[in-house]
Amino acid sequence: MQLSIQRLSKTYSNGVRALHDVSLTLPNGMFGLLGPNGAGKSSLMRTIATLQEADSGSIALDGLDVLREKKRVRQLLGYLPQEFGVYPKVSAERMLDHIARLKGVEDARERKQLVGALLENVNLSKDRRKHLGTYSGGMKQRFGIAQALIGNPRLIIVDEPTAGLDPAERNRFYNLLSSLGENTIVILSTHIVEDVSTLCSNFAIICMGEVLYAGEPDRAVESLAGKIYTKAIGKEELAAYQQRYKVISTQLKAGRLHIRVIRDGAPEDGFEAVAPNLEDVYFSNIATRMDVNTI
Ligand code: ADP
Repeated sequence: MQLSIQRLSKTYSNGVRALHDVSLTLPNGMFGLLGPNGAGKSSLMRTIATLQEADSGSIALDGLDVLREKKRVRQLLGYLPQEFGVYPKVSAERMLDHIARLKGVEDARERKQLVGALLENVNLSKDRRKHLGTYSGGMKQRFGIAQALIGNPRLIIVDEPTAGLDPAERNRFYNLLSSLGENTIVILSTHIVEDVSTLCSNFAIICMGEVLYAGEPDRAVESLAGKIYTKAIGKEELAAYQQRYKVISTQLKAGRLHIRVIRDGAPEDGFEAVAPNLEDVYFSNIATRMDVNTI
């Protein structure tokens, strides 16, 4: 499978330009969409999920024209939106059975088998009869992925699925996502850089509706080898350092400001060379668009 997005643009009626000339190629496997809030991630995902129109551009899923053949795309799609309501007084088992029926699984025995397997897969078998209203955040997200998996989707879109999950729930949820078939495209939007480095074979950074970077996380990190330096400074010195160096991120620890700068060749006065990470890739790209203090 391959999803090919070409020159996609979208401006909302209030004048906000959410997507500008977005071109991306997504192969099988997990693809991370990284960007600050308001970058356009949800707009892009909703457009791929055939839930909203683009102003211009095209999206192809193998030979399928996503923007036109919506019905066909929906048969191949599993979508977990950023926020979704659940009927509080219905059990997971009943709800999945209902959704499977809506998706065209008419035989009751086949449905029972399918729902049982899905519940097992998302580790909710023992809670299958509990009302959805009593589920924790992590359980709801796992239920959400179970409903998205009905019908064997080839393209799965999950929009910031870990917001509000505790670390253990987040881990469980990610193990589940990574265990999905290799022959599937999973698009995951997040603003957690670490999620992308752990999970995704490919990723893109988007900011203000534009793609700033697209590639493989490991390669992206390698490309910064020998270029990242750090130093602890006083808060009041930041402005001066920003004038002299490209400061890509700052972190306040015990009253000292730890800055990371990117440059070719060692800077003078007390900087220490450090191994780059994906956060450096992210911030060095984003810093070109936004004031580092507002990231
Ligand atoms: P992200 O998912 O990266 O946070 P969004 O795609 O939700 O970004 O939003 C991109 C920009 O478009 C933001 O400025 C947001 O306020 C705006 N936006 C999103 N949806 C709408 C809408 N339906 N109408 C108008 N503006 C919108």
